[in-house]
Amino acid sequence: MNTLMEMRQAVVETGRQMIGRGLVAGTWGNISMRSQSGEQIAITPSGRPYDQLTPEDIVVVDPAGQILAGRRPSSELALHLAIYHARTDVLAIVHTHSLYATACAVAGKAIPASLEEMVQAVGGPVQVAAYALPGTVELAANAVAALADRSAVLLANHGVAACGPSLSEALLVAELVEKAAHIHVMAQQLGGARELSEEDVALMRRFYLEHYRPGK
Ligand code: 13P
Ligand code: ZN
Repeated sequence: MNTLMEMRQAVVETGRQMIGRGLVAGTWGNISMRSQSGEQIAITPSGRPYDQLTPEDIVVVDPAGQILAGRRPSSELALHLAIYHARTDVLAIVHTHSLYATACAVAGKAIPASLEEMVQAVGGPVQVAAYALPGTVELAANAVAALADRSAVLLANHGVAACGPSLSEALLVAELVEKAAHIHVMAQQLGGARELSEEDVALMRRFYLEHYRPGK
């Protein structure tokens, strides 16, 4: 069981990794982690540089968004809360603005189920949620609808929301979505990506969940 301070520290470390891996620029993107009890959510503060964050800067809220510690949570708090509400299996969310995935989100094109490690970690194609302004409850509702039971969704004209049972897995999903989007764009230049069959996607997803996922 993680203490609140351990959760806040883990969010800080994930922020450094997210910026270090080039998945966001500046202060954009945000990260959260939910406690095992479900009663606390640790989330990055709004508009603060990742390399300067300390555990005390990480805001703690309850599932209704009431602030328990810290001040000024991410402007995408509604997005994080809506995903946690819809998905009891999710304990961490990483929202990025990574380059190729955002190119797909800007073009309104889903990332197809064509790369094996992405379909294992995501569970299928990455769909594009209907457009809404950043930070709105409409964006949150659209993202949840397009996410369904998978681990990632594209936010139209905006970026990526990736989720998982841990911060490390949510960050891995965000990286794999970016890799798959990059490969998708390159494959378009070679005549187009060949999609995997639904049957093979389901088989690979089951293999990942039952055997391959980190911690298995
Ligand atoms: P915050 O800095 O408020 O988390 O917002 C960044 C962002 O990506 C908005 O979508
Ligand atoms: Zn954003």
